[in-house]
Amino acid sequence: MDYQAVIGLEVHAQLATESKIFCPCSTRFGQRPNSSTCPVCLGMPGVLPVLNRKAVELALKVALATHCRIAGHSIFARKNYFYPDLPKAYQISQFELPLAEHGWVEIETEEGRSKKIGITRIHMEEDAGKSLHEGTYEGSRVDLNRCGTPLIEIVSEPDISSPQEAKAYMQKLRDILSYLQVCDCNMEEGSLRCDANVSLKAPQAEKLGTKTEVKNMNSFRFLQKALEYEIRRQAAELRAGGVIVQETRLWDSARGVTVSMRSKEEAHDYRYFPEPDLVPLRLDPAWVEELAAQLPELPDAKRRRFIEQYRLPEYDAGLLSSSRALADFYERCVALFPDPKQVSNWIMGDLLCHLKNDERQIQDCPLQPEQLAQLLRLIKDKVISGKIAKSVFEQMYLSGKDPQLIVEEKGLRQVADAGQIEKL
Ligand code: ADP
Ligand code: MG
Ligand code: ZN
Repeated sequence: MDYQAVIGLEVHAQLATESKIFCPCSTRFGQRPNSSTCPVCLGMPGVLPVLNRKAVELALKVALATHCRIAGHSIFARKNYFYPDLPKAYQISQFELPLAEHGWVEIETEEGRSKKIGITRIHMEEDAGKSLHEGTYEGSRVDLNRCGTPLIEIVSEPDISSPQEAKAYMQKLRDILSYLQVCDCNMEEGSLRCDANVSLKAPQAEKLGTKTEVKNMNSFRFLQKALEYEIRRQAAELRAGGVIVQETRLWDSARGVTVSMRSKEEAHDYRYFPEPDLVPLRLDPAWVEELAAQLPELPDAKRRRFIEQYRLPEYDAGLLSSSRALADFYERCVALFPDPKQVSNWIMGDLLCHLKNDERQIQDCPLQPEQLAQLLRLIKDKVISGKIAKSVFEQMYLSGKDPQLIVEEKGLRQVADAGQIEKL
């Protein structure tokens, strides 16, 4: 029998605030271990947390951008567990009454259809510290700098039907978060990470199958690979007449397999209860409205506008609108050289290819939109051929010089005068 995959993701995103969620310590990555801590984030007895308004603002922007219903009144809760990187032995999170619920994000399926993935809830919480096991030191060490970094957890409905859709959903969330500038989305540093829940069911079955949860994937490729593996593993188990055990698994990227970490029986009982040291969070509707009004044009809207306004193919529009900086670069070029498809070809081809080779972001592009527009003008005016333009582009990218100057310096001007050519 063929099974259908049912997938739901729990995505954690670090909010890009200067200071932590309940204390004034810096959230900067890569500082000396334990230097960015204070009695509050170290969980000393008797201290009192104070909620960071900026963290709430950033979380609200995400909730608004993902069409969630925002709770005017939400509460924080203690999630109790014991682990060396959690000095308080509880994490302040939200459980009942989260900040936002019932949203959705649109993705494109493999067949090119658009599909809405429901968002169950978005809640705020604090991050834990980090245990360090590497190096020459014999034991393990703990770095508490990350304790108290503000996070949001975005929980999806089990609406995702394939590893490819899971990746598309995660990428769409990444695009939205970076458009909103609420998260730096650096997956290697762990600013954006995800747990994937997956189960299989017979195509006609109403009831969902037993799920497993693959913890903490920090790349799109790992997410897709881990889900592909997990679906194969569950299908083989079911075909052999076995049952799926509800458990938490880990992705082993070196071996390309998931391995069992703990079963449901060993799962924590978090003993959630309302955080007595924080008052309920009450939102001023006027503030929420103000934030809604300030939201930038988001990736989907921009993509649609690019198709309409510039008559770009879906593919071009999707790629160019995937980052705000890239879209801005594109639009600045088109304003100067109004041939949208031609500009798109050069950005998607030569420019992105060079940036990728250099592992650079468009933000660090050595070349200005004006320069690319100038180059396209030189081709259009037949000063240089399309082929020469490729090499001018390369030199322009490497030197930052204007294309006009490169053409003059290297004598690349194309000879179009028939008399002169005949003489030669
Ligand atoms: P848990 O209590 O185990 O954390 P939740 O109900 O909170 O489970 O759901 C966690 C995530 O798992 C959500 O993203 C949800 O969509 C997803 N999920 C729930 N049930 C299933 C299932 N049977 N198959 C796949 N994903 C599921
Ligand atoms: Mg859960
Ligand atoms: Zn602190």
